Amino acid sequence: MSGVFTDSHAHLEMVAQSLGPLALGEIVAAYAARPGELILDVGVDPGDLGRRRSLIEESIAREPGAGTKSAAGLPIRWAAGIWPGREALDNSKASLQALERDIGAGIDALGECGLDYYHMDAGAQAQRDLFGAQIELAVHYRLPLIVHSREAFEDTFELIQPRARQIPVVIHCFGYGPEEARSFLQAGCYLSFAGNITYKKSQPLRDALALVPEERLLLETDAPYMNPLPDRGRPSSPLDIERTYQAVAALRGIDVATLAATVSSNLRRMLGMEPYAR
Ligand SMILES: [Zn+2]
Repeated sequence: MSGVFTDSHAHLEMVAQSLGPLALGEIVAAYAARPGELILDVGVDPGDLGRRRSLIEESIAREPGAGTKSAAGLPIRWAAGIWPGREALDNSKASLQALERDIGAGIDALGECGLDYYHMDAGAQAQRDLFGAQIELAVHYRLPLIVHSREAFEDTFELIQPRARQIPVVIHCFGYGPEEARSFLQAGCYLSFAGNITYKKSQPLRDALALVPEERLLLETDAPYMNPLPDRGRPSSPLDIERTYQAVAALRGIDVATLAATVSSNLRRMLGMEPYAR
């Protein structure tokens, strides 16, 4: 089946809220039919892991095509983290305790977490404190870190730079330009590009993409957001990622199959499913 490619960052619960539970069953079945292609399902709320897992289990139960897969064979991997929103920032201690319970339940990566100075919900210092605490949790538990950074390059860089060679660090939905890309790459980060790389005004993203070595490149939907052209503005799902692969393959002058193998292998290595070579 075409259209199924590794998606390094999606919010399947929000996809189900936008497109309905049936759509979620179709997505899981499509990926289950293409072994090797994975979705990293990413959390934003403290303690949301159990809820997200049940949602997938329910959709598998409804979808015969996906029902044959054991938990280990499921095409989904799990990240849990705390988005820097008002509620989490106002209750950071309880939020971090809930996150530690999710870590204990078994996750593959910590995130998303980070700094968003565009949505300045409770001040920069509170955001830095919550992000810093999650970075330390990731280091302590040896988990890859999925980082959200918007209008906050300097502070993000300062916090992750000392850690980005101890654990894998992904700058998700990369939203800066070539200069920032160079700094993150020098620090040892992976850069993950979303569907907005297809948008007309995204030349800085395309310039940044040109700098990313093959082994540090990830692609994502950030579904239900960032739908690649021509569906910008509509809720996206992982099944929309093909257009991002096509755009990125054209920009890098390679074929889609080569790009797909690269991204899939990078996500596996980032998650520790393949040996982590430096
Ligand atoms: Zn996200």
